[in-house]
Amino acid sequence: MQLLTKRTDTNAMKVEWLTVFLASCLISISCFCGQQRLCADNSNAQSVSHVGAAEPTRAEWEDSGLDLAQWADAVGDKKLASFIRNWPLPDEVTQVDAQIIACIDKNTDSPDWLKDSSAPLWSAFMLLRQQRAHHFFERAKTEIEKQRNLSTRHHFKSSNEAIRLLVRVVREDPDHKLGRRALGYVRDDDQWVWPNAARQRAQRKEYSSEKGWTRNGKSTMLRSSQSPSLLPNTLSPQSTNATELFVSDHWSIESTAGIAKAGDFAERLELTRFIWRQVFGGFVMTPAELNSRINGQARPRPASSSKAILLANREEYIDNLQSLEPNVGKSLGMYWTPTQTTWFFDSPDSDGQTVEHEATHQLFAECWPTNPVAGTHHGIWAMEAAACYMESIEKTEFGFIVGGRNSGRVPAAKERLLNDSFFLPLRKLAKLGRRTLQNEPDLPKIYSQLSGLADFFINGERGRYRDAFVEYLVRLYRGTAEHETLWKLCKKSPEELGEAYKRYLSSQ
Ligand SMILES: [Zn+2]
Repeated sequence: MQLLTKRTDTNAMKVEWLTVFLASCLISISCFCGQQRLCADNSNAQSVSHVGAAEPTRAEWEDSGLDLAQWADAVGDKKLASFIRNWPLPDEVTQVDAQIIACIDKNTDSPDWLKDSSAPLWSAFMLLRQQRAHHFFERAKTEIEKQRNLSTRHHFKSSNEAIRLLVRVVREDPDHKLGRRALGYVRDDDQWVWPNAARQRAQRKEYSSEKGWTRNGKSTMLRSSQSPSLLPNTLSPQSTNATELFVSDHWSIESTAGIAKAGDFAERLELTRFIWRQVFGGFVMTPAELNSRINGQARPRPASSSKAILLANREEYIDNLQSLEPNVGKSLGMYWTPTQTTWFFDSPDSDGQTVEHEATHQLFAECWPTNPVAGTHHGIWAMEAAACYMESIEKTEFGFIVGGRNSGRVPAAKERLLNDSFFLPLRKLAKLGRRTLQNEPDLPKIYSQLSGLADFFINGERGRYRDAFVEYLVRLYRGTAEHETLWKLCKKSPEELGEAYKRYLSSQ
């Protein structure tokens, strides 16, 4: 209500309207239901209706939001009206067969383009968003509680959905303390940052997109002998036999391609990490860990930096890696598990997909202490499928869309299936180890199928198997999965799942 005190008399009518509007917002504190899943939660909502809270319905949110947008239209602020109308994410208003990844603003300051006269409207919009944040947070708490109470005898527990909801919390209210902490952020002075960034700041370092984290703006030059991963005699003349170091929040990148190129790669790596944590939320934290965070009992801590090497050209890349991986000439990038290092090379033809694919392997392997032989004897298909899935990231106005039958290599999977009748049965696929897969004669076709399978298991049949697929990845990387694990988690035979996959790809 404080925000009403600075109005002028000429705005009296608007003020009165706003007062009514804000009052109605405050009364219906939990009225915002953007998600279709809430339909399933209605029985819970009814059971607590004695506390007097309004029954959450999507229509009520739409009414409040649309009222505000109409008011913006009425005062001639078309841009703000459109902004408010488009605020709910696509999966909050309709069924989407893909994952919606939300961006998180640093704060709720009004945008540069906002007219001064629209400041009260912006304040009302912020109030609406805070209420939506409150609503999403309560749903996340309920969800994680539900998961914790599941009997492990017949079910597995997953934090996927709770993490998805928590991202919505901080999208609505970037300063939501428990939401931020639950997702792994810490407060540093006046901003929310990753714990690794807070540690750099504590060491009096500053970040710039050109040089990364540095003290007094000085980049680090490594002598070749200081870089045990690199072969010194293969460095290009341009690299002057030295390697530059670019340190971002979560990566330490040694580059013979120059510091600027390393900065570009760092940005892409960090973005991949941000998106990956939403796509595979259930892998990042167990329900027990998330429950501690959500209740403010555990503080996020810094982690070791991941290692990446960016070479100036393809020749350096092959020279450095041929002794480790004879097939390196066929690759565009590589995650080398024994040294936990991603290798890339600078190329005018390179696209972002290699970075996202290899970074995904690295994120899975290093998120927590994983089994170093994961995928060696079986299950490699799912690890590759998850990396291929992350190649489908598409930028949008609200953030990103990942997956979908028209994205990434899924159209190729559809062609292989429908035009070539190519389909490797899941029972056979699951048994392949890393080497056997790499030596398969139909490897490109198999990779297309893996992309299709990842999309099916994550988005098919309204995400029915998403939690099971992520749990399968958890068990693969933990070293506890067996050939049959995924089918058991899905409670279907591999043949039934194969048929469902074919129907999914054929249906559009
Ligand atoms: Zn791969």
